[in-house]
Amino acid sequence: MSKRETPAAKNFIRQIIDEDLERGLNDGRVATRFPPEPNGCLHIGHVKSMCLNFGIAYDYGGTCNLRFDDTNPDAESPEYVAAIKDDVQWLGYEWTNLRFASDYFEELYGFAEELIRKGKAYVCDLNAEQIREYRGTLTEPGRDSPYRERSVEENLDLFRRMRAGEFTDGSRVLRAKIDMASPNINLRDPTLYRIRKGASHHQTGETWAIYPMYDFTHTLSDALEGITHSLCTLEFEDHRPLYDWFLDNIDVPSRPRQYEFGRLNLEYMVLSKRRLTELVEQGIVDGWDDPRMPTIAGIRRRGFPPEALRDFCARIGVTKSDGMVEMAMLENSVREALDAAAPRAMAVLNPLKVVIENYPEGERESLTAANHPKDDSFGERTVTFTREVYIDRDDFMEVPPNKKYKRLSLGGEVRLRNGYVIRCDEAIRDDNGEITELRCSYDPATLGANPEGRKVKGVIHWVSAEDGVPATIRLYDRLFNVPNPGADGDWKRDLNPDSLVTVEGVVEPSLARAEPGARFQFEREGYFCVDPHDSTPERPVFNRTITLRDTWEKISQREG
Ligand code: ATP
Ligand code: MG
Repeated sequence: MSKRETPAAKNFIRQIIDEDLERGLNDGRVATRFPPEPNGCLHIGHVKSMCLNFGIAYDYGGTCNLRFDDTNPDAESPEYVAAIKDDVQWLGYEWTNLRFASDYFEELYGFAEELIRKGKAYVCDLNAEQIREYRGTLTEPGRDSPYRERSVEENLDLFRRMRAGEFTDGSRVLRAKIDMASPNINLRDPTLYRIRKGASHHQTGETWAIYPMYDFTHTLSDALEGITHSLCTLEFEDHRPLYDWFLDNIDVPSRPRQYEFGRLNLEYMVLSKRRLTELVEQGIVDGWDDPRMPTIAGIRRRGFPPEALRDFCARIGVTKSDGMVEMAMLENSVREALDAAAPRAMAVLNPLKVVIENYPEGERESLTAANHPKDDSFGERTVTFTREVYIDRDDFMEVPPNKKYKRLSLGGEVRLRNGYVIRCDEAIRDDNGEITELRCSYDPATLGANPEGRKVKGVIHWVSAEDGVPATIRLYDRLFNVPNPGADGDWKRDLNPDSLVTVEGVVEPSLARAEPGARFQFEREGYFCVDPHDSTPERPVFNRTITLRDTWEKISQREG
């Protein structure tokens, strides 16, 4: 990892690990895992979990497995497995072992028989709705299933026949025998196995007619892998007694412990898979990797560097409560990382032609430009200067609005970045009164030198009209207009209608040869990257990663 990376603060989980190590627990081992279900794309919330799990393994010289929690054949697919592996590696992490919960189906089955033999699990013939009815509520205890007192022999026989595929889906389940009156609903005889015949599992094919449930699978997979610290989000706090019950009642090879931390919620974003799916399916965004999506695929395509995400996670820390994190935190991490890592270039987003009338026709000059103002190791490049150049429309006003105005105006002077000082002599208009061209003159004595006898404060970017390459530039902004979408009703009403504005600009020629995904600072405009899917050398496409400054802060200050 790079040196500028923020070290992870000592959060409560790291404190627990320190104490465990001091007490000599787990023979001094630290083993974590990151357990996604391959039923969708990872998002920035998962990044928090990865930074925590992989980060701990890295800092303590421990291990971290990537384990696919794949117990639902109907929702999972190898495409998601591949995408998730890719995302983890892109973030900069290496797993110690790659595992699938389905690798353990045989062992898990054995653990289930063990519970049956100990009289701690039974086959129940109630259907899903009856099970719900019998379960009771938060205020009322549940009732025992009429099948609860089946003999060990009958349970073993029925469970084996469930495995053999003798029964239909939903006709029976295997349940743990715990306590139907427990104040914790998770302990009211939770389901351990369900029948799902004829489904094709992406790893085990048609081998299994029964599938283990999440809590059972997760706990025992942790135990089988020798996980020491099983870290999950707060909504699993109520599941911890069940996690411990499995460990207490099954002869497990190791004894992991579960700790819960607060989920990441991010302002101006939604992170629920259901809502993200809706955005994709209703065509509100252009797929899972739309650069406005909080998915890792989207974030990558947007141009966020992985070190910015790790830095962000180190800064937000890990606490025992769910909180809302300001978007500005993430954006600041991105700006900082890109400021250090992105070479500078010039691109004109809204071109206005400038003809420099005293520059000889047909002549071109190679001017030298530094690729990074603060870091010489980025080297230099040349930009060609020609008689006709483009500047941005926003950099010209006929009459300066006030004394602070430093851009070009009629009769005024400005420096072309890395080049000469020019003066605007005339603005040409079309029949509609719109300015189509500026007639200018340049001062040949001003290349790398101050003009004689006068001060020129403004510097603007430009691109040679003859050599510049037309490019499509996508200006992405936040997907939602409000920090907490849906807080006052329909979350889709809070979508930002201007989250994507596409413009046709002109970029300096070197940019047309840039690699897909390459990141740049377009001087005075922001950070941009080459779109990995749509860009070609003939027709480059750039995505705006982020503006140079926080324009939202200004808006809220103005409105506030
Ligand atoms: P979603 O709620 O979006 O469907 P999930 O929790 O069901 O997410 P998993 O694939 O099961 O998705 O998650 C893998 C791991 O990432 C889990 O340990 C989970 O707790 C963690 N995780 C998921 N979302 C967040 C989040 N917003 N903040 C922190 N950790 C998260
Ligand atoms: Mg989950």
